[in-house]
Amino acid sequence: MLITNATLITWEEPNRILPGHALHIMDNRISDIGPEGELTNRFPEADRLDAHGQYVMPGNICAHTHFYGAFARGMAIPGPAPKDFLEILEKLWWSLDKSLTDEDVRYSTLVCLMEAIKHGTTTLIDHHASPNAIPGSLDVIADAVDQTGLRAVLCYEVTDRDGSARAKAGISENNRFIERTRREVLAEGRIAATFGLHASLTLSDATLDACRQVTPADIGFHIHVAESEADEYDSLAKTGLRVVDRLHRHGILGPHTIAAHTVHVDAREASLLAETRTWVTHQPRSNMNNAVGVAQVESLMRLGIPVGLGNDGFSNAMWEEWKAAYLAHKLWHRDPRRMSAMDVARMGVYNNTALAHQFFPKSPPGILVPGDAADLIFVDYQSPTPVTPENLPWHIVFGFHESMVTTTIVNGKVLMRDRQLLYLDERSIAAHARELAASVWKRYQG
Ligand SMILES: [Zn+2]
Repeated sequence: MLITNATLITWEEPNRILPGHALHIMDNRISDIGPEGELTNRFPEADRLDAHGQYVMPGNICAHTHFYGAFARGMAIPGPAPKDFLEILEKLWWSLDKSLTDEDVRYSTLVCLMEAIKHGTTTLIDHHASPNAIPGSLDVIADAVDQTGLRAVLCYEVTDRDGSARAKAGISENNRFIERTRREVLAEGRIAATFGLHASLTLSDATLDACRQVTPADIGFHIHVAESEADEYDSLAKTGLRVVDRLHRHGILGPHTIAAHTVHVDAREASLLAETRTWVTHQPRSNMNNAVGVAQVESLMRLGIPVGLGNDGFSNAMWEEWKAAYLAHKLWHRDPRRMSAMDVARMGVYNNTALAHQFFPKSPPGILVPGDAADLIFVDYQSPTPVTPENLPWHIVFGFHESMVTTTIVNGKVLMRDRQLLYLDERSIAAHARELAASVWKRYQG
């Protein structure tokens, strides 16, 4: 397929914006990029997709999300409103996740991914929980990912909060699914696995050791770290160690591990994350919603920690997360010089891309270069001012919107064209999800 009449945003480093260009896709990958006349001569037989002068750029990557939370939208929490992070976990998430069946997990995934296609998010790193439907849950999610055509990294969050049998079931589910991804290529290589852990505050030393023991050295963990002070105080009370020190002692950190949030890490913990080359992800919308504070992202990046950008189950519209990051740090520090749009792009583009490369080394998404995965979006942005590689991050913060995404392509397959989903029936999926959500809400309230 030859995409013509495009203004390419490559997101290379340094970034390039190339008007009047074409992009050729072959075998799920970008095979060539060049001036339009050159490529139309070289590939006269190729099917053409006219971008009508739109921006054509890599699909967005989400470094930390929870498909299972989809049915929380609009759900009432009984009793007085939760007053802090622990009450939010107890009253909302730890009751909602217990109400999920396999079918709910499937439709939670489908509705998230349908939204992701519409909003130009093409790779998502998920963290799943369904304590009453653990065995096989990652297969259920993988089937849904396969059906939507997107790219995802899956894991099950192991926790001791529901007893040792379920902790063991969580370990087995991660293990089984990791083994499966080693045995077979899932969804044409669009699905990868990591090992999920909930958070230090719901994990015993024995469970952490058991997880470390069964996990191959080249597989990392995906865990919430110091999202609120409660995680730190729990760890100090249980072990005398702060969270990151504790995880380090159990061999959980490393260049394949993702530590989500790290809002309350201290300087020593930050340097441990840097020394071990552990990934950190930032989710400002979630942090604001839970009122847990703001991670010292700029300092963490100055230490050399690769910080990516996730959405923690908020809408699968990553430019909204860009905007939240850009604004939250300025307000938090009462300093408009903090968190430049270039720093946001460092997280949302470059670090997320490097993280995704770890999971999809054979066909990496995130940059428009020959050989990489053909995961692209078309953006209908009619800028009122000049757009340059240098000022693009500010255009994204102040001008881009997910409603401008008109076409989404993953692994060379067009999933949405001119805002029409080609393989998913949005109305019927949403209608069935609403029926399932109503039952989930009843079980949750009960
Ligand atoms: Zn999370």
